[in-house]
Amino acid sequence: RANRMFHPEDSVVDVNGIKIGGKKIVVMAGPCSVETEEQIISVAKSVKLGGAAMLRGGAFKPRTSPYSFQGLKEKGLELLKIAKQETGLPIVTEIMSADKIERFVEDVDVIQVGARNMQNFELLKELGKTNKPILLKRGLSATIEEWIMSAEYIMAGGNDNVILCERGIRTFETYTRNTLDLSAIPAVKKLSHLPIVIDPSHASGMWWMVEPMAKAAIAAGADGLIIEVHNDPEHALCDGAQSLKPERFAHLMGELKGIAQII
Ligand code: PEP
Ligand code: MN
Repeated sequence: RANRMFHPEDSVVDVNGIKIGGKKIVVMAGPCSVETEEQIISVAKSVKLGGAAMLRGGAFKPRTSPYSFQGLKEKGLELLKIAKQETGLPIVTEIMSADKIERFVEDVDVIQVGARNMQNFELLKELGKTNKPILLKRGLSATIEEWIMSAEYIMAGGNDNVILCERGIRTFETYTRNTLDLSAIPAVKKLSHLPIVIDPSHASGMWWMVEPMAKAAIAAGADGLIIEVHNDPEHALCDGAQSLKPERFAHLMGELKGIAQII
């Protein structure tokens, strides 16, 4: 059960020996989308050098417009596997439909459920039958209780390896892409024992806001961060404006090491 009543201690989700929800901060980083072999390998190597513990990268992309780049799909998963072989970094990538679960269980280390699928209950139920770590993003307009109930759908099937991810919510403010709800961190910690990771990239939509929001998330008690990094943000096929260049990611990691213990 996701409710802290049933589990007073913080839970720790183990991803190939990396503990999310322990004392140390886990940083996942990489491009919004896998674009080419050169791109994903180059970004994987630079985020590893910068100190990331895991590689993120979308292969199946939930885009607002059907005419936008939809991801490399299965080919993207293949390229992520190559990047993992090259760097040793575990892979975090988004699933969009239950018919791909077998493939994801085989190839991926953390299965991401995107904001748009937070209440895709059939998908959540199927993921509950696996024992893979699931990164469950908060829906665009979901309350904290709805989000925890979605975690419950996964856990009710027997999979306790759920990591929550706050990625900004819809508010009246349009200056930022979304509004980072930092209060979700203490709220989740009060209501649940599950670890929580913050995505300052999608929350703000602007690369120059990522560093201050990442620091604020750690100060508020987050267990980790998921950050978009691209080797050439100006030409990124998705989310370039919010992506850090590798050198800026390395700078951010240096700053974070001054305020927290990072894995
Ligand atoms: C992503 O991580 O690239 C993504 C699509 O995130 P979200 O589901 O939070 O919009
Ligand atoms: Mn993105």
